Amino acid sequence: MTILVLGGAGYIGSHTVYALEENGEDVVIADNLETGYIEAVHPKARFYKGDIRNADFLNALFSKEKIDAVIHFAANSLVGESMTNPLKYYDNNLYGTMVLLKSMVKNGVDKIVFSSTAAVYGEPESIPILESARKNPTNTYGETKLAMERMMKWTSNAHGLHFVSLRYFNACGAHKSGKIGEAHNPETHLIPLILQVPNGKRARINIFGDDYDTPDGTCIRDYIHVTDLAAAHILAVEYLQKGGENNIFNLGNGVGFSVKEVVETARKVTGHSIPSVISPRRAGDPAKLVASSEKAKQILGWKPAYSNLEDIIASAWNWHKNHPDGF
Ligand code: UDP
Repeated sequence: MTILVLGGAGYIGSHTVYALEENGEDVVIADNLETGYIEAVHPKARFYKGDIRNADFLNALFSKEKIDAVIHFAANSLVGESMTNPLKYYDNNLYGTMVLLKSMVKNGVDKIVFSSTAAVYGEPESIPILESARKNPTNTYGETKLAMERMMKWTSNAHGLHFVSLRYFNACGAHKSGKIGEAHNPETHLIPLILQVPNGKRARINIFGDDYDTPDGTCIRDYIHVTDLAAAHILAVEYLQKGGENNIFNLGNGVGFSVKEVVETARKVTGHSIPSVISPRRAGDPAKLVASSEKAKQILGWKPAYSNLEDIIASAWNWHKNHPDGF
């Protein structure tokens, strides 16, 4: 099977490529390297540098390579940036996906696994969050991902596209080989920012709000290891290959940890005191996001290997302590 991974030089994309290669699949990567890193590209994959908004680039790629399925990670994913520069998100995420789907339809490629997000839900009405819960994004990032899902649905109705959308909760951790891991610039995510303290890159971690309606007042999130996310993409491709119907799945551990609990666990893992200060709330942060992933477990047979926060942070630390400046 030849699989095209769009955004295969990014964080979750590169880990999925490594997992596909471990499974013996033939992998093609396209990435514009705007936020991805050439160092994250698996040495065995065939790499094409280009942008999904460029129809000529995609059509040439689909003519050259015989692609069985696409896994689509090529998008911008920073909530804060999506609020200050919303049109960038409409352009790269929504318009990019439109160009991609047009090219797939034109070239007869009919299977796609798509990276979506818990941000499509916004402030949840109940926990754990089911796929059928109300969708009410509170930021442009989530809004564009929801629109991308719907674009796939209507394209499927008209042109027979088969899709699976995977809504991730908080991706974290790094590949066990130590070769690839999380590297965003600027970094905005909690675990890598915490680990910058023992790495000597930051004096303390800011805790964004301790007056939420949660047991210790800090926000609760569902942290899911990137290797477990990668495994779900492979299961989703196999599901489509077997003729599975269009579907949407949450991917999380189903267990929530507060910001304070994450900081405390990082202290234990790293042996560093990691000073913290309470800072104002960050705009648009829901108090509690925890997934129900029962559907992915039942239909895809997905079973996350990392359920323990200490193991997850140890995996991230294994990468960050050896790569304090990323790639
Ligand atoms: N957070 C924090 N300090 C930071 C970065 C994040 O307290 O320096 C909090 C943030 O408010 C949220 C949680 O950590 O409640 C996870 O944030 P992250 O940006 O990692 O992921 P998100 O949940 O926004 O996708």
